[in-house]
Amino acid sequence: MNASTTERHCQPLTIFDTTLRDGEQTPGVSLSAPQKLEIAAALEALGVDVIEAGFPAASSGEADAVAAVAAKVSRSAVCALARCHEPDIVAASDALRPAARPRLHVFMATSPLHMRHKLRMTPRQVMQRARQGMRLALDLCRDVQFSAEDATRTEPAFLHDMVAMAAELGVSTINIPDTVGYATPVEYGQTIANARQAAASHPGVVISAHCHDDLGLAAANTLAAIHAGALQVECTINGLGERAGNAALEEVVMALRTRPELYAATTGIITQRLAATSALVAGLTGIAVPPNKAVVGANAFAHQSGIHQHGMLSNAGTYEVMRAEDVGASTQIVLGKHSGRHAFAAWLEARGTQLHEAGLERAFAAFKRLADSQARPTERQVLELAGAGSHPPAGWQLLAASHSGRGDQCQVEVRVARHAGRECQGCGRGALANAVADAVAQATGLRLRVAACHAAMESRGDGSVATAHVEFDCDGAALRGQAIAATECEAIAHAMVDVLPAARPTRMEVAP
Ligand SMILES: [Zn+2]
Repeated sequence: MNASTTERHCQPLTIFDTTLRDGEQTPGVSLSAPQKLEIAAALEALGVDVIEAGFPAASSGEADAVAAVAAKVSRSAVCALARCHEPDIVAASDALRPAARPRLHVFMATSPLHMRHKLRMTPRQVMQRARQGMRLALDLCRDVQFSAEDATRTEPAFLHDMVAMAAELGVSTINIPDTVGYATPVEYGQTIANARQAAASHPGVVISAHCHDDLGLAAANTLAAIHAGALQVECTINGLGERAGNAALEEVVMALRTRPELYAATTGIITQRLAATSALVAGLTGIAVPPNKAVVGANAFAHQSGIHQHGMLSNAGTYEVMRAEDVGASTQIVLGKHSGRHAFAAWLEARGTQLHEAGLERAFAAFKRLADSQARPTERQVLELAGAGSHPPAGWQLLAASHSGRGDQCQVEVRVARHAGRECQGCGRGALANAVADAVAQATGLRLRVAACHAAMESRGDGSVATAHVEFDCDGAALRGQAIAATECEAIAHAMVDVLPAARPTRMEVAP
């Protein structure tokens, strides 16, 4: 049977979320019943078709949590997992009793490795145990799913027989898990196509994909399965799950939505809720989402390089294949050392600050200095720089400021350039602010006297920067400046030089 596009048009894809079962098997994660309930409510609001709530045989607490989810959720089907053992199946069935739409999920390992070393059973015994398990499950629940654990490392002929038997018994969904994340897309697509073939005489049976990310192929394998005709996909929020995790729901769903011409599969997922659901799951499980995670990572819609920011500002399609608002996020222009003047001005404008050309020039230069010493300048810092940039154009530009010594014994050297471009230098001694003022005075020929100076190093998550606020007298005029730079000496010098008026030439001028 071929997976034709028209055929798949007719049947929407079932999204089976296993965040509360496989996702909870993420090392270090253990969810309480109220936490499971909160996530289940979010999954239902997100529009998932089936919520796998847990493995009731694991503990009485787990059974209670599954029962609580079953009682609360009404629109989505609620599923419980069981091995092909009578007590497991009965525990799952009991936990599902309050469910409006219960699904009982039984599984049996089918690969030679698992049968020999884990189950210590022959293929024949495995077949028999699976049959008994499915029969009992079907006696207790109308909607039964069977999984052939480690299907991708199972002998194809044995998997074919197992799938055919499950379909014959009346199981409505047959899952073909890539339990250990071993398959590659072409291969997995073929395995799914073979399973469809094995169940072909029961056209109502849904073949399901369940992929793990051990080789980073979970989403790709899931898409290959859809291409091959799988009508259910199993996934988790944020790709949580055993070891490297499961296929991430948000990645699979957004791939389908972004490339409808390739898959023609529809889902009932309300994608605008993806970011919020991801954040909720990260918060409750304690497993943070990496910033570069597809779709829901903090950087998924953030742009820092000047070229990309320029493109984004004229048309978001230049560097985004999906709209941030479609996943409930927003595009961010992140200011950093790679940002261009264009994005810097746009960022300020979006916050109500518009600078004249010279002011923008100075603020941008100050911003570049700051971004060199600090990976991610804060919003307050950048707005402060912009505030300094709104002063009338300065007559001088600071080229360098350095100091040695400490306390009252500082020696400061500065190099400045006049508006016309000629360089001047000066030096001063004493307490830092006074030494800077003397050095600047010598370089510029202006008479400077510090009235008040507050300078300090501030530590940030990604380094430390110096801030300075200086009030000073310049040839009888009271001036006030502020700056941020890598050192206190540089910050004080910028706070003064950046607000100096144009000055008369001095004898200290040196060749440019
Ligand atoms: Zn799994």
